[in-house]
Amino acid sequence: MGTLSPNFEAIFVGIDLTINFYNWKSRIPVLIATLLLVISDGVLASTSTIQLNEDEKRWLSEHQSIRLAVDIDWSPFEYIDDDNQYVGMAAEYIALVGQKLGIEFEVEKEKPWSEAVAAVKSGELDMYSCVVSTVQRREYVNFTEPYLSFPMVIVTSDQVAYVNGLKDLRNETVAVVRGYATQDLLEKNHPELELYLADNVADALEKLSVGKVYAYIGNIATVSHVIKRDGLTNIKISGETPYNYELSMGVRKDWPELMPILQKALDSITEQEHDQIYRNWIKLRYEHGYDYHLLAEILTGVFLIIMIILVWNRRLSSEVRKRVETEKLLNEAHRQLEQTNRQLVDYVDIVDKYVITSTTDSKGIITSTSDAFCEISGYSQQELIGNDHSIVRHQDMPASIYQDLWRSITSGKTWQGEIKNRKKNGDYYWVQAYISPVCDEQGNITGYTAIREDITNKKLAEELSITDELTSLFNRRHFNNLFPQELARAEREKKTIVLMIIDVDYFKPYNDNYGHQQGDNALQAVSAAIKSSLRRAGDFAFRIGGEEFGAIVTVDNSDAACAIAEKLRKAVADLGVEHAYSEVAAHLTVSIGMEIHQCDGSQSADMDLIYRLADDALYQAKENGRNQVASSCIEGWQATINE
Ligand code: GH3
Ligand code: MG
Ligand code: MG
Repeated sequence: MGTLSPNFEAIFVGIDLTINFYNWKSRIPVLIATLLLVISDGVLASTSTIQLNEDEKRWLSEHQSIRLAVDIDWSPFEYIDDDNQYVGMAAEYIALVGQKLGIEFEVEKEKPWSEAVAAVKSGELDMYSCVVSTVQRREYVNFTEPYLSFPMVIVTSDQVAYVNGLKDLRNETVAVVRGYATQDLLEKNHPELELYLADNVADALEKLSVGKVYAYIGNIATVSHVIKRDGLTNIKISGETPYNYELSMGVRKDWPELMPILQKALDSITEQEHDQIYRNWIKLRYEHGYDYHLLAEILTGVFLIIMIILVWNRRLSSEVRKRVETEKLLNEAHRQLEQTNRQLVDYVDIVDKYVITSTTDSKGIITSTSDAFCEISGYSQQELIGNDHSIVRHQDMPASIYQDLWRSITSGKTWQGEIKNRKKNGDYYWVQAYISPVCDEQGNITGYTAIREDITNKKLAEELSITDELTSLFNRRHFNNLFPQELARAEREKKTIVLMIIDVDYFKPYNDNYGHQQGDNALQAVSAAIKSSLRRAGDFAFRIGGEEFGAIVTVDNSDAACAIAEKLRKAVADLGVEHAYSEVAAHLTVSIGMEIHQCDGSQSADMDLIYRLADDALYQAKENGRNQVASSCIEGWQATINE
């Protein structure tokens, strides 16, 4: 598609029809049918695509806004209307081109034409929207192919019958607009004419209307528009020139990339789009010296029909445009969605790889796991899915933790805490777990999701810092931290808390005689016996120092405390570690000092006092002959030596 001229020819067909008006009746249906065809084609063919290469796309993306030099007073081609909108035929082309290329034109709305021209020359503005390609302008701008073409016509007073070309204007004063291409052209090719340089078309036609000049030469579109707009009833188009007003877009020379892009956009404008723009702005009254009053009336009828069709067509076009826009929006949303999807997939991949997650049904049967979960637990996905989550439960974790966990999540809350889990190979790992219920639309819990963080290293470091290296019991530091905590807990829960201090009997002679290494072995054996006797949650065993151990247990009553202490003492004796140098038995024994503290909430416990009383009791047990338990709290109670 090139310029507007085909449409223009169509109009001339219409004019030709008026000349042959003797058979107009037969032509009208043809004209209407042709118009209908054009209109329906226009609706269907309103979109077309532009093939831009990579360089062009890149250039456009780097130049999203282009500063446009326009003639602010050149209707119907372009002008700034009362609402400060840039309108006119060129404005519609600019809008189409902008839309097709996805760029914005920044219209310079203030500068009069001469200043706009200067601004393009100086590079302050980037392009002309609608200009004739002249030799001077070609020095600083590149032009697209013309996209609008109108004949240059001669306008005179309506007293003049018919002007048969420019030669009829010899020695007459002829108005042209200063700086318009017409001026250049006539000065160069028709020096015989006496030119009057008007400020603008309205000025020129006004001079003509009042008889100051004989004729005006300008393009047919502007002329007919201004005649109608300004109600100049005493002038008319009386003749033609051999010239056409060919209008192009012109781009600053140092932007050679833009011109071919604009050309592609212009080329993609369909004939129907050209036609539509033309119809929006041009209503022609062309005088050939014939009187067409009757025909004018007939054509008014035809015109009305056309107008109805046009209105209908415009509505349809706007529907189609809306639909196209909606489709575009949908497409964009789709694109956006795809991108989000991709990000989500990446995200899920990362989660799968690095986050220890699993889901279960409402009964705790595993329904999905992440790769990271399989990796850390040593189980495959097949081994985990369908199994109870307790498959990774570690025996070190007290049942009370799981009771607390289930209580929270079945009531709809998220539970979080540190859990020691068992690997398939029997090893263990620690996680910080966040377990949340998953609900259906009615709010019923359908399952649970767990997200865990591997804290094994942290726990290892923690464990090391509270563990005695030789015996693996808790160390003195942990005792110092834990004892007040347990005491406070017992106070809160009004429980009975027991502190035992356990000391190996005659260990110095053992060490001296069996050697330090065997002494160490004996301490390990004693520790293991103590530990195995204290298995309940809330029981703690410590190595307080040397061959001295501590135990904290929570009990219901004194009898239970005595039973545990006795069990401990017996467990060590039952090891049967030979001790030929003990004065109390042939094997290794311990003495135990015990302080039983009944918390009733009436007074706060004195930790130091409890410790001292337990130590006193130990002294008592030693005094009383060793291998026994003593407690100041139990009147007359004393474990018997029964081996
Ligand atoms: P009593 O029955 O009165 O408790 O007599 P005892 O010999 O056990 O008491 P004493 O406190 O005099 O001796 C404790 C000994 O324990 C001193 C030291 O030889 C030994 N011992 C302390 N710590 C260690 C240790 O880490 N390894 C070994 N092998 N021996 C230790
Ligand atoms: Mg000792
Ligand atoms: Mg000691």
